[in-house]
Amino acid sequence: MEKKERYLKILKDHWGYDAFREAQIPVIESISEGRDTLALMPTGGGKSICFQVPAMDKEGICLVISPLIALMKDQVERLVSKGIPSLAVYSGMTQRSIDITLDNAIYGNYKFLYVSPERLATNLFKARVAQMNISYLVVDEAHCISQWGYDFRPSYLQIAQVKEIIGKVPVIALTATATKEVADDIMEQLKFREKNVIATDFSRKNIGYIAKECSDKLGSLISVCSSYPKKLGEGSAIVYCRERKRCTEVAELLNNNGIRADFYHAGLGKEQRDLKQRSWMNGETPIIVSTNAFGMGIDNPHVRLVAHLDMPDSIEAYFQEAGRAGRDGKPSWAVLLWNSSDFQKLRKIHAINFPPIEYMAKVYQYVFNYLKIAYGDGLNSVRKFNLSEFAREYRLNAISAFYAIKYLEQEGYWEVTDEMDNPSRIMFEVSRDELYNIQMESNIMDEFVKFLMRNYTGLFSHLVSIDEEYIAKATMDTPQNVRAKLLMLSKKHIIRFIPQIRTPMIIFKCERLMENNLYISKMRYERRKAQMLKRIESVMAYASEKDVCRSRYLINYFSQPVEEDCGVCDVCLAKRVIMRDKQRLLQTEQAILSHLRSAKEGLSTFLEIKKLSAPADDEVYVTALRELADKEQISINRSGEVKLLKRE
Ligand code: ADP
Ligand code: MG
Repeated sequence: MEKKERYLKILKDHWGYDAFREAQIPVIESISEGRDTLALMPTGGGKSICFQVPAMDKEGICLVISPLIALMKDQVERLVSKGIPSLAVYSGMTQRSIDITLDNAIYGNYKFLYVSPERLATNLFKARVAQMNISYLVVDEAHCISQWGYDFRPSYLQIAQVKEIIGKVPVIALTATATKEVADDIMEQLKFREKNVIATDFSRKNIGYIAKECSDKLGSLISVCSSYPKKLGEGSAIVYCRERKRCTEVAELLNNNGIRADFYHAGLGKEQRDLKQRSWMNGETPIIVSTNAFGMGIDNPHVRLVAHLDMPDSIEAYFQEAGRAGRDGKPSWAVLLWNSSDFQKLRKIHAINFPPIEYMAKVYQYVFNYLKIAYGDGLNSVRKFNLSEFAREYRLNAISAFYAIKYLEQEGYWEVTDEMDNPSRIMFEVSRDELYNIQMESNIMDEFVKFLMRNYTGLFSHLVSIDEEYIAKATMDTPQNVRAKLLMLSKKHIIRFIPQIRTPMIIFKCERLMENNLYISKMRYERRKAQMLKRIESVMAYASEKDVCRSRYLINYFSQPVEEDCGVCDVCLAKRVIMRDKQRLLQTEQAILSHLRSAKEGLSTFLEIKKLSAPADDEVYVTALRELADKEQISINRSGEVKLLKRE
């Protein structure tokens, strides 16, 4: 079989997709030729498949560096659920399980090893990676390696060392956002053998971008929401708000105005969120009002409208959220409703995003005190972390404390997961043979165990995420009963059962440092601060832009050239109106001049000329006369006589 066919087969077998997206093809080709490749593709564009499919086709294990542990776990779980043996190594795992995982990566038949960047520097990892047969080195969110980028993560600099060890393996760098400067820096940091950037066309021709300045946002939202289905046909809509509480209020307001809508945010329980998401997906609820928690991993191609009630804090974020519209290629709208209070809010956000360095150093120590972790301890530990309780105990402003913690996360000291679903996980504590010999006390339990074995792979070797609701549905039972059965099996030590928890966690990537040893780079701080300001200013400039086509503005922001204006955004539409008016004016001027030329001695009257026009055009005629007089092509006297002037 030819490579192309093999790739298509892999795509179909594991993902169930029939074809690659157009934008994926050149990236995949470059990767399959073994060239170092930097792929620039928008979020949601399908970057993962670009390396996952070629890696499946190649011998060895693909090493993927990914910045956030939460995202990484999610990716690995998805691969495993598609029957692709994959592993992950990150802070928060016990030393023993890291050891086993790395062994598996060397000797097992695994195709992917995801690693968080701070693990790369460890001696254990360096020693083991040298023994691995690596197919590709993939750097996801590659802009994190550049000090010029907004998202610089010092731990990404470790990648260079790994590259030294593994030698001549093709490097694949992926990102949705990189200026030319950052792109060059990525290729230099990763020591590309030759420069090779493959940039997807970011333009979304079927989206009409509109930014509307309005004092009454809610009023505008109601009119936007009630008019879109008429103009664009059936389909769904997303309304983004910054705050959870506001989502509820706005959904209620829409409903009170006869527009069916529901709300969604990360504070809701999983079951509720799934329910809301499903009824939005199948069109029962046409409009969902949500925080930016909505949309991750949701594939609804028929979104006709994405409206923003609050201004996002970067073009990147706006482009990603607006880009959820029109995946099916049909005409769609992205509407940003804004006013000057958004500007004030963004400036405030900028200020609180960067608490003073001394303050952050204090928060650093408080976090360890709060969790009772001594100096030198804490490396690799994972703890529940309740921010508001923490803030209360240390008399901190919760918001400032939050941003201090986030900043320290970027510096690589720890990672804080949002209030996130950690799904239930199970694994067998007995071997397959032992399991056969265990006498289940009832047929029901026997069936239940068989169901688990049929539906989840890997249960004998590691913890596997399960979904009680799914099991309940498939076995025609209730989630409560499923949980009871799992607990029963766990009491008998047949399975290990870690029930779902829903709480923010903090994962320590470094041990606790003494006051004197904690170093927060002032230079980096200032640079990040300046860059965030620049980002905010770009969004504000986008909103208030009156002259540049919106689509052009957005695409140029991602350093891509644009050939022509979109013709459908509010700027283009306004220009078209102006153009039309201009043309009408010119035509009217010509009509007046030719009337005068044919009149005796070039003389006519205001009233005569007015007769040339329909009553609705009176205004245009008055303007045309004034223009001609200004250009000294005619003269008008007080009694309303109009005369053609001779021109030299
Ligand atoms: P990115 O990393 O670029 O943000 P992902 O790799 O997470 O995007 O992919 C986004 C979504 O697109 C995923 O749900 C993925 O399964 C889907 N996808 C990727 N490639 C294809 C394809 N060829 N056909 C259909 N869906 C695809
Ligand atoms: Mg991705």
